[in-house]
Amino acid sequence: MKVSCAAGVYGGVRASVKIILLGPPGSGKGTQGAALSKSLQVPEISTGDMLRQAVAEKTALGQQVGDVINQGCLVPDDLIISVIEERISREDCENGFILDGFPRTIEQGEALERVLPDSVDVVIYFNVSSEAVVARLAGRLTCRKCGAVYPNMDTSLCSVCRGDLYQREDDMTSTVLRRLKLYREHTEPLVAFYRDKGKLAEIDGEGSVEEIAQRVEEGIAQVLA
Ligand code: AMP
Repeated sequence: MKVSCAAGVYGGVRASVKIILLGPPGSGKGTQGAALSKSLQVPEISTGDMLRQAVAEKTALGQQVGDVINQGCLVPDDLIISVIEERISREDCENGFILDGFPRTIEQGEALERVLPDSVDVVIYFNVSSEAVVARLAGRLTCRKCGAVYPNMDTSLCSVCRGDLYQREDDMTSTVLRRLKLYREHTEPLVAFYRDKGKLAEIDGEGSVEEIAQRVEEGIAQVLA
């Protein structure tokens, strides 16, 4: 399979590509992940979307994690590890995948290394200041149906699927501050974890969607070179 993205080809012909999107909440992982998923033709797997769907469908998992998510806390490692393990074993992940929101702790990163003997190929780290994150999340709306994200409040219907737009309870400012604190304490150490493995593409996550997409493309190409 030829791995290509927007305007480029990464590393010639590759059998598969496994990418992790790392960065604070609201750093653009979902937006860039959706575009990458389209161009690389591998699924984007968002643990946040999977958990919110489980809550909406009132599954056993959803009942376990609903309050944790709304409070902006992290669900237990063993739980989310088993969710992701099952998800990436499915057929549609044969040629790779893009993980958005996993791993979020060193323990999760180590679990992923155990599950995937050949490990991940690239970890894209979206570096965004806390101030920018708070401003972005306080203003963003999410589609109830397909999860698409909109940066401001001047619309009420999703242009992709016509679903309703709403403000996620965990995007309220006080909860965002808790999510950011958890991110800095538990998730940011993964930056050094993957840098030491030579897998990290560090991207300036502030700018237009197009500018960031260009940086992502260059970052992936550099790590795979
Ligand atoms: P997100 O949409 O990625 O911001 O995730 C929303 C919420 O889902 C997070 O605030 C956590 O409560 C939970 N969550 C998602 N992914 C993970 C993970 N890998 N580990 C623990 N909790 C997670």
